[in-house]
Amino acid sequence: MIGAATDATKGPEGRTAAEHGGSAVLGIDVGGSSVKHLLARADASIAEPPVPLARGRNATPKRAPVDGLAAIAEAVRGERTLTRLVLSIPGIVDERNGVVVRSTNIPALDGCALGERLGAELGIPVDVINDGHAAAIAEASWGAGKGVEDIFVLALGTGIAGAHVVDGRVVPGAHGSAGELGHITIDPAGSMCSCGRLGCLETIIGAPALHAAWTAAGGSGGTESLFAAFGAGDRAATTIVQHASSALAEAILTLCALVDPGGIVIGGGLAQAPHHLVTLAERYVAERATFHRVPPIIPASLGEWAGVNGTVLTALRRQRALG
Ligand SMILES: [Zn+2]
Repeated sequence: MIGAATDATKGPEGRTAAEHGGSAVLGIDVGGSSVKHLLARADASIAEPPVPLARGRNATPKRAPVDGLAAIAEAVRGERTLTRLVLSIPGIVDERNGVVVRSTNIPALDGCALGERLGAELGIPVDVINDGHAAAIAEASWGAGKGVEDIFVLALGTGIAGAHVVDGRVVPGAHGSAGELGHITIDPAGSMCSCGRLGCLETIIGAPALHAAWTAAGGSGGTESLFAAFGAGDRAATTIVQHASSALAEAILTLCALVDPGGIVIGGGLAQAPHHLVTLAERYVAERATFHRVPPIIPASLGEWAGVNGTVLTALRRQRALG
């Protein structure tokens, strides 16, 4: 641990391979049920995803998350000198101060100064970022959005997460809450959203909403069953998927009007193959666009490892910034 601070301030330049060969940065993506980690050389290039020194997954420590995460970091680093750790957390994160404001999936972390506490535990700088932001910068820099300067990354799943990424960095807004495309109003007379408003995009195309609509229409199984039935021409499934795709199309048109991105990357569980929801939405967007400049809509490419890649990218960048 003593060598860590020295390495972090010296930077990789001008040292021999032997001197910095033992230094590493660690990224940890804390999800509701599993924690993914990725260890990379501290001098790895940021132009492309680093070759992992270690990569894996553990169960999310729910009871004593700070101790559990410190134990994971200690185990993963092995004999290497860890110079920086970046964690991504689902929920509202005060990224500047490393504080978890609210995490629905891991309530034990609510209000926790996680960066400071883990930093004290491990003796290294620890940053905490939002999981959607982590996945977005990874897709923008190393994944489907690579080469596009101004891109919006959208994740469709239980919730709808979004982030506007310019030159590989999330545009956070004045209060860090920009990009919440899931909470734009599609139907003012619609269902109650988790945010307390009516008819948000999430109440129509979120996985729980699609599941509920499918169940109400007599369908059985989850969203996979819904999309399979849609593919087979089932009338009830067609109505639900068309309604959801129409809502997604409206959201994309709103996004184009407000942000005018150079590309839209769409990922998350609901965007997996078959891409019925997104394919149909693209058609509606093309039919409804007027003045809008509709950019390419690109499937995300990093899958469930996008978030942890984003934590490592952040660790490498911050280390260089201080080097
Ligand atoms: Zn909402």
